Amino acid sequence: MDSVLAARLARQRQRQRYRQRATTTGIGPRFRRDGGERLAFCSNDYLGLAGDPRLAEALTEGARRFGTGGGASHLVCGHSEAHERLESRLAELTGCSRALLFSSGYQANLGVISTLLGRRDVALHDRLNHASLLDATRLAGARLERFAHRDADDCGQRLATLAANRRTLVVSDGVFSMDGDVADLDDLAVQCERHRAWLMVDDAHGLGVLGDEGGGTRQAQGIAPCRIAVTVGTLGKALGTQGAFVAGSETLIDALIQFSRPYIYTTSLSPALAWATLTSLDIVRGEPERRSHLASLIAKFRREAAGLRELDLHLMPSPTPIQPLVVGPSWGRAPGEGRASERGGNEAAALALAAALQDAGTWCSAIRPPTVPEGTSRLRFTLSAAHTHDDLDRLLSVLFDAARRLSSGGPSA
Ligand SMILES: *Cc1c(COP(=O)(O)O)cnc(C)c1O
Repeated sequence: MDSVLAARLARQRQRQRYRQRATTTGIGPRFRRDGGERLAFCSNDYLGLAGDPRLAEALTEGARRFGTGGGASHLVCGHSEAHERLESRLAELTGCSRALLFSSGYQANLGVISTLLGRRDVALHDRLNHASLLDATRLAGARLERFAHRDADDCGQRLATLAANRRTLVVSDGVFSMDGDVADLDDLAVQCERHRAWLMVDDAHGLGVLGDEGGGTRQAQGIAPCRIAVTVGTLGKALGTQGAFVAGSETLIDALIQFSRPYIYTTSLSPALAWATLTSLDIVRGEPERRSHLASLIAKFRREAAGLRELDLHLMPSPTPIQPLVVGPSWGRAPGEGRASERGGNEAAALALAAALQDAGTWCSAIRPPTVPEGTSRLRFTLSAAHTHDDLDRLLSVLFDAARRLSSGGPSA
């Protein structure tokens, strides 16, 4: 076995796709790593709650009252009062009748799609949907089709060509994780209503961040909850804990409890974490200033980083804390390499820029194909309410320095 795997690993290295984990200590965004401080702009802790002492306190209290582990699946004896209360608060947050906890967003997506669809059915996805949604479609054995990114008309045209006797689930992220842009839920809902398809929205990056009360993309766009049959939200991003949930009608949740294998055959989410997440929800509702601070950081980043256009680095049009900066074609000549290299050139440039940011004590991720299309390698910055305006000034100064230095021919120039 090892020799087979070793060959695969070697190929991965050869293609420069071999990835490594960095071990951190401390609480984000100010991590320590490799002996130095790193100001991180790559986590999804959008409201800065993962390190909030009130959550640590609530987690301790939850552990004392309910135990650290659920001890069994929800249907056996792992469903505590902490879970029950959290489910009703999540239903309230999303405007749905009922919500059901899962241990992760990945699992929630597996659980809901494999329950709704079978081999005769179709899942019609936005082209940029999260990997877990695609994997869920495969688990269901359903036919996987895609529509053009954020293009509800294309979605409608594809719906029109599908046989009327097939069940069809239209699936979209609320906020797209690689581009930071937002689905237009009204347009999608109109198409689904016209063609009798079901609409599912995975709002992992919108929940807690968008909407006046942090109710997510749907709330921000003023859409009635009943127009979205299935909403998935995660607790590990803006809510600062871990786990996920599906929200929808009473009947949907009832069916998931009865039929969803990824729900049934797994130990319940830690009840201590469920208890702590109740405190997150209090903060999400009670401290809207976190969202307004985040909005001011986003506005400032976009205003100032727009100037990088002159160096052929391009901000994508994102209104959310996910801010991608695409490396333009002139960077196809890898830094330090005089000649134009093959199409991997701007991948190398994205890596070089990310490395330069790291050397200067900051941290963002370089995203390359196959995660994003060829020619759109990028630095992906994520902003958080835990960042100060000074933090952002520091990032911008380090970023402009690195970009100027590398664009003029590499570290030796
Ligand atoms: C992060 C994410 C998930 C997975 O959630 P986890 O709780 O981390 O497993 C699912 N969907 C989207 C869109 C995500 O961004």
